[in-house]
Amino acid sequence: MAKVLVFATHNQNKAREVQEMLGQAYEIRTLSDIGCHEEIPETAETLEGNAKMKARFVVENYGLDCFADDTGLEVEALGGRPGVRTARYAGDQADSHDNMAKLLLDLTDATNRMAQFRTVFCVIRGGEELIIEGTCTGAIAPRQAGVEGFGYDPVFVPTGETRTFAEMTSAEKNAISHRGQAVRKMVDTLLERS
Ligand code: IMP
Repeated sequence: MAKVLVFATHNQNKAREVQEMLGQAYEIRTLSDIGCHEEIPETAETLEGNAKMKARFVVENYGLDCFADDTGLEVEALGGRPGVRTARYAGDQADSHDNMAKLLLDLTDATNRMAQFRTVFCVIRGGEELIIEGTCTGAIAPRQAGVEGFGYDPVFVPTGETRTFAEMTSAEKNAISHRGQAVRKMVDTLLERS
């Protein structure tokens, strides 16, 4: 029988992506599936801290094995910022357009535009906690290009590419992205230990 594993997210698309890669050994349930309709606090100072906070919340309140993720964009010229504040870079109510506009403005005079996306997963199974990470290095483009994807995709050009993530198909992006790599590592680990 498939083992139940909660993904501490309300995002059904993310959950579907992981379920497709895991196959039948595990049945992924989202927060809505387990009746958790609140926003779990993400107030840690690191991506790892936030992923742990969300996974531990589910284990402590629902007693179910769980994993959680957090992603950040780390820009060299900004000393690794926005990092854990990627979603709120231009303010608490900011959307992706505000965030990208602020990033391009902050890098106006920067000669070094190197950056990386980093995704961290925290998996808790049978009380054992595992941290799994995926990174994708690249550069911040001088201006937005492309309409695919989400978030900062129109300004991120992965290493070895001339196109931004937003100019790629989702399959092309997933093959090299931070999240794609982290999900593949997590799936391998889960299947090895299932
Ligand atoms: P989350 O941890 O998935 O909620 O992402 C945190 C922030 O990073 C949000 O502002 C997202 O828009 C941004 N982000 C996460 N993954 C990506 C990506 O693959 N491309 C562009 N932006 C992303």
